[in-house]
Amino acid sequence: MAATAEIERYLNEALSVSQFKDYGPNGLQVEGRAQVSRLVCGVTASLALIEAAVAQEADAILVHHGLFWRGQDGRLTGWMRRRLAPLFAHDINLFAYHLPLDAHPEWGNNAGLGGRLGWQADQRFGEQQLGFAAPLAEPQSLETLQQRLRAVLDRDVTVAPGDGRPLRRVAWCTGGAQGYFEAAIAAGADVFVTGEISEPQAHLARETGVAFVAAGHHATERYGVQLLGAHLAERFALDWQFIDLDNPA
Ligand SMILES: [Zn+2]
Repeated sequence: MAATAEIERYLNEALSVSQFKDYGPNGLQVEGRAQVSRLVCGVTASLALIEAAVAQEADAILVHHGLFWRGQDGRLTGWMRRRLAPLFAHDINLFAYHLPLDAHPEWGNNAGLGGRLGWQADQRFGEQQLGFAAPLAEPQSLETLQQRLRAVLDRDVTVAPGDGRPLRRVAWCTGGAQGYFEAAIAAGADVFVTGEISEPQAHLARETGVAFVAAGHHATERYGVQLLGAHLAERFALDWQFIDLDNPA
């Protein structure tokens, strides 16, 4: 068990929150009870996750995608009211860490995805150094990489092939980081793996020869909160669990 304020202080410091420019507030987004002994972790602060946390009698929820983002109109009505109401009714804290949790070298989404795939980053690239890159143990084909991703993430992946070169260096950034493709190319990658694809990436792949793989926004961002949740549980003697709510994205 630990004080909510102590957990927040620890997380903000450990994740170097003040060093990031982000699209929403990092840290304690909704304040609940003053002590935490049971923690539920999930990718997104959806109503389904909040209801699952209520059912688990959680004192706190830790997510990667919180409730508040730049550009929202700010009204606590409709779906936002329905997400907030159970948090207040049950006095549950909501902690959210977005870019700081993508970037952390040990507990971050990128570190976690790399760990599952055996990729040891020796380079960071892109805006706020969020991108990771690593040499592959031995050169492999795009098909081999695609199969491995399918197996590890347990979902299909979308591929925009490059020029068919053997893959020696992989770059990756979890979630909606398709905009980092050019930076990955500039960093010398043979393939870039992220969560989502938009229209321009297939053209860039054809024209630069660097392959592009979209392996799922949710699927690639499940690992950070699990690594961080496990760490917090050990540090503060919390009871914790990760709740994975399927998402086709
Ligand atoms: Zn995300």
